[in-house]
This record gives sequence, C-alpha cells and structure tokens, in this order.
Amino acid sequence: MTDQTQAAPAAAQVASGPVYARMAVIGGGLIGSSLIRAARSHGAVGEVTVADANPAHRERLTALGIANAVFADPAEAVRGADLIVLAVPVMAMGEATAAAAAGMKPGATLTDVGSVKGAVADAMAAAAPAGVFVIPGHPVAGTEQSGPDAGFATLFENRWNILTPQPRDDAPYQAAVEKLTEFWMRLGARVELMDAAHHDLVLAVTSHLPHLIAYNIVGTAADLEEVTQGEVMKFSAGGFRDFTRIAASDPVMWRDVFLSNKDAVLEILGRFTEDLQALSRAIRWGEGDKLQALFTRTREIRLGIVAAGQESAEPNFGRDKRE
Ligand code: NAP
Repeated sequence: MTDQTQAAPAAAQVASGPVYARMAVIGGGLIGSSLIRAARSHGAVGEVTVADANPAHRERLTALGIANAVFADPAEAVRGADLIVLAVPVMAMGEATAAAAAGMKPGATLTDVGSVKGAVADAMAAAAPAGVFVIPGHPVAGTEQSGPDAGFATLFENRWNILTPQPRDDAPYQAAVEKLTEFWMRLGARVELMDAAHHDLVLAVTSHLPHLIAYNIVGTAADLEEVTQGEVMKFSAGGFRDFTRIAASDPVMWRDVFLSNKDAVLEILGRFTEDLQALSRAIRWGEGDKLQALFTRTREIRLGIVAAGQESAEPNFGRDKRE
C-alpha cells in the first residue's frame, strides 16, 4: 500500500479469553448484529449490550437473544462497557456518540463501523468525553440487506477492517489500538491502519463510485420508455442483474455516504467521467485495440481480487450451482 497505511501492530496475537469484558453496540442492524454474533461465537467479549432507536428492531434483537440486554437509551447500554461500537448510519454517528457520552467510562474504547471516516471521526471526537479512546474503523464487509435479521457471524471472516486512529503516539492510546486490532483479528478479520482522508479516497474508488454507477444504471433502465420493465427483468442476466444487487443497498446508508464523502466522490467521479468519454470516443472511432487493451487489464484485476480471496472464482459468482 502507500506510505499512508501501516501494517497492524505485530503484537496482535489470537489469544484465549475475551478481549473485552463488556461490549456495547449502538445500532443492532446488519453490521451491529453481525458484530455481536461474531464476537460471541469467537468468545471475543464477555457480556454484550445493544441499543437501537427502532422499537421493531429492539423487539427482534430481544427475540433473537444475541445480547445480554437491549436498550432504547444508548447511555444506559454503554454503562460499564470497555468497548463501544457505533453501527448506525454515517450521519447519525455524532448524535449517537453524544447520546451515549454520559454513560461512557474513562479508559473505554469507542469505535465505529461507518463507511466514511473523515466526517465520522470528527463527529465522534467532538462528542466523546475526555478519557475515552476514540479509534474510528470500517469493516469492508457487508451485504445489500439491513436490520437485525440480516446479520450473520461469519460476515467479517477474511475481510479487511480499516482502522483510522487519531494522530497520537502516547502509550495508552497505542495499547487501545492494539487491543482493538486483536479483537477484530479474533473475529477472523484482517486489520489495516490508515489515515482517515486516505481511507475516504480509496473507498470512493472501490465502493462509493461503484454504488453510484449501479444506482444510476438501474435508474436509467427503469426510465427507458422504449424498453419495458418486463424486458429489463427478462434479460437482466446480461450484466444488469449484478448492478441491481448493489442498487438494492440501503437508501439511508448510501445517502449518508455520498453526503459525507462528497469531496473524494466528486474527485473520483470527475476522473471516471473523463475515462468514460475516452471509451465513448474509442467506440465512435472504431479503436478496437484501445477497448481490448482496457478489457484485458480489467480482467486481470478481477483475477487478482479472486487470488486475494476477496471473491469467488466460480463463473457467474457461483450462482449457476445454487440455481
Ligand atoms: P442497518 O441494518 O440499517 O442498521 C442500523 C440500525 O441503527 C437500525 O436498526 C437503525 O434504525 C438504527 N439507528 C439509526 N440511527 C440510530 C441512532 N441514532 N441511535 C441508535 N440506533 C440508530 O444499517 P447497517 O447496514 O448495519 O449500517 C450501519 C453502519 O455500518 C453504517 O454506518 C454503514 O455505513 C456501515 N457499513 C455498512 C455496510 C453494509 O454493507 N451495509 C458495510 C460496512 C459498513 P432504523 O432502521 O430505524 O434507522
């Protein structure tokens, strides 16, 4: 990676016994409930509490029985917690930190799972009480589903979790970063440390722009008057179907991602638009060699992602075997 990233601390070893005696999760949806399930199944935490603003989700969390206690009030949920994880939409992170602040104990670690880091890190740091170690994070793992029932324990296995620690080098803070790294590794995740601004640029390319393209192409197809909705469904296996999975992602979550990572997304979108213009020109002027060279390069990137264990090597994403 670039010089803005660092390997996770070498001392992070998988050990036995809980890494944190008590974890509180604010937001028990897809990511929050997956984290609870994963932490429990790996014995990485002793007790777990969860707070959620949605009464129906609280009811489901209680029925699922994955936490020791379910709360409406974040401050009650975090009381006595050694690890506090915010798993709410990006633009609710500051508000969730402020709502939980009164219950946070000094020496606790406060982290999050938000898909944007710069704006979230600032909001968390502004609202967290002194003496709490704020270590923003983003597990690069998820699905297009939401809510407590969508979570599962293996979500983070072999996936990257990016931590964007504050620029502090005091020993207690470093120890807190090492402990959080150990926690994520216990769940089977890989950990990388990175500057928040660099995270937002990298994720603008690898996640935010692909979602924007998917939302746009599905919207364009839906608006085409000459092509009926029936034909869009019928012939979707020609590539469109793969965009629809991404375009089914949570509308609130993604609204927040684009509004909070505006600068990086607009920068990458500008470059993308230029490259699209170049492709359009190559098609117009019959420059097949240019098209073929690009498509050959992009196929190699796909093979690299499969080789890195971040995607299935099965043709058609392994769907043919399932269908
Ligand atoms: P989700 O399934 O919708 O879960 C979020 C939960 O938090 C919902 O139950 C929501 O209730 C609740 N909530 C919202 N605001 C709250 C507040 N202020 N206090 C307490 N609870 C609140 O969303 P998710 O997919 O788990 O996403 C959570 C975070 O993970 C987001 O920041 C997202 O960027 C990040 N992330 C998501 C993915 C992914 O693939 N989904 C991947 C990596 C990271 P309502 O439903 O009523 O709003």
